Order: sequence, then structure tokens, then C-alpha cells
Amino acid sequence: MTSFPSKGRLLYEGKAKRIYATDNSDELLVEYKNSLTAFNALKKDTLEGKGELNNKISSCLFKYLADNGVENHWVRQVDDIHQVVRSMTIIPVEVIVRNIATGSLVKRLGVQDGLKLAFPLVEYCYKSDELGDPLIIHDHAVLFGWADDEQLNQIKAICLEVNRLLANLFDRLGIILVDFKLEFGLDSRGRLMLADEVSPDTCRFWDKETMAKLDKDRFRQDLGDVLGAYREIWARLQRHFGI
Ligand code: 5GP
Repeated sequence: MTSFPSKGRLLYEGKAKRIYATDNSDELLVEYKNSLTAFNALKKDTLEGKGELNNKISSCLFKYLADNGVENHWVRQVDDIHQVVRSMTIIPVEVIVRNIATGSLVKRLGVQDGLKLAFPLVEYCYKSDELGDPLIIHDHAVLFGWADDEQLNQIKAICLEVNRLLANLFDRLGIILVDFKLEFGLDSRGRLMLADEVSPDTCRFWDKETMAKLDKDRFRQDLGDVLGAYREIWARLQRHFGI
């Protein structure tokens, strides 16, 4: 951990994070909150320690991705609940990568829950709380100016590489990477980069042996011991990386 940057103006407060300006215009300070939401914030709770776990897990995974060639907005973790990231203009397209069918895919298409997909499925959603992040296709994003053709192709390629790297890492931790959501942004020089967070709030993780859910589905489905699942993910990452 390194020196704490100046905590400037609150620029944005989301469901799980607050974003502050710093004295460096290229960098922002992210504070991970203890709040948990699901179903577009219809279900809410607060879990002491959740923000700290997600800050640590996300920092660890962003560092792992950067070390393996996936440039992203993460700069450094500064304390238990804060990390510094590059300032980005977020592209309003959420990208979901799926290795196993579950969640909204099963609800939408009626396919078998737990079905192993023959290749990773990449889906796009329009990032809009008001509309409930509706599923879109590539051409919607281009037509309405949310991202251009080249950016979307680049985003898809990065998503598949992130999936390869994370699935491989979690496999070594005894965990199946079921699916996850990524967000992207453009930095001040217009460079496209992975942003937001990678944590049990945004990924589905199943234990390889027991098939226990180790992610936010424990909250969504009232399975109990949400924090225990997040702690388990962090403990296995710590063991693996010797942190
Ligand atoms: P589903 O579309 O099945 O609900 O979610 C697919 C994956 O994307 C899950 O890992 C889920 O956690 C993640 N995901 C999708 N949309 C959101 C969102 O708006 N917020 C968060 N935190 N995760 C999301």
C-alpha cells in the first residue's frame, strides 16, 4: 500500500462505490462501500467488511490482469477500502461473458441451468439503471453512438482474453468461473481500457468440489453467509499469490 492521495470532490456515487477527484486530473479515488444491491437495487443490504474484501479482490485481479498484458484502469490500492484508478469516460455498454448457463440467460431462453457452454458467450447490455440494463446487439451500440465498430471488436477480444486468464487462475484455486460482467472506458488520450471492478459482486464463482456459490448469488438468492463466500475467494487468492 502507498501514500493516500488527496480526497477531492465526490464525483459519483454508485450502488457499490463512491468516486472522488484527486489532485491529479488523470487519477480518481475509488471507495468501495459495504452496501449490497440486487435486482436493480430493489433488494438492498449492508454488510460490514464487504467493501474491504471487494477492494482487495478487485485490486489483486486487476494487477494479475495487467501483469498478463490486459491494460486496465487500476493504478494502486491505497488502504483497505480505497484504490486509485485512471480517470476514464465509461462506455455505457456492460459486457457479460458466460462459460456456464445460469442467471438471466436461463430466465430469458429457458436453457438448462448449469449447462456448460461449448464456447464463451459474450453478451452486451445498455448500461441504464432506468431501463434495467437491457440486452442489446453490437449494432445498437454503433447506431446510438455508445461505441464504434472497432471499439466493440476490441472490447470483445479483451473480454475473451480476460475470461481465459481468470478462468485459468480460478481453476487453480478450485473454483469455476461461471460468468462475469465487465465495463470499459476511454482514458484522456482516447485509449480503450478495462475499468470498473472484478469481484464476487460482478462474477459468479462456483466451488469445483462442492458446487457451492461463492459470490453475490448468495445475497440474491438468500443463501446466507455472503461475507463468508467473499472471504473464501480472498483467502484462496492470498494463498495463491502469497499476499
Ligand atoms: P445475469 O445476466 O445472469 O444476471 O448476470 C451475469 C453476470 O454478470 C453475473 O456474474 C452478474 O454478477 C454480472 N452482472 C450483470 N449485470 C450486473 C450488474 O448490473 N451489476 C453487477 N454487480 N453485476 C452484474
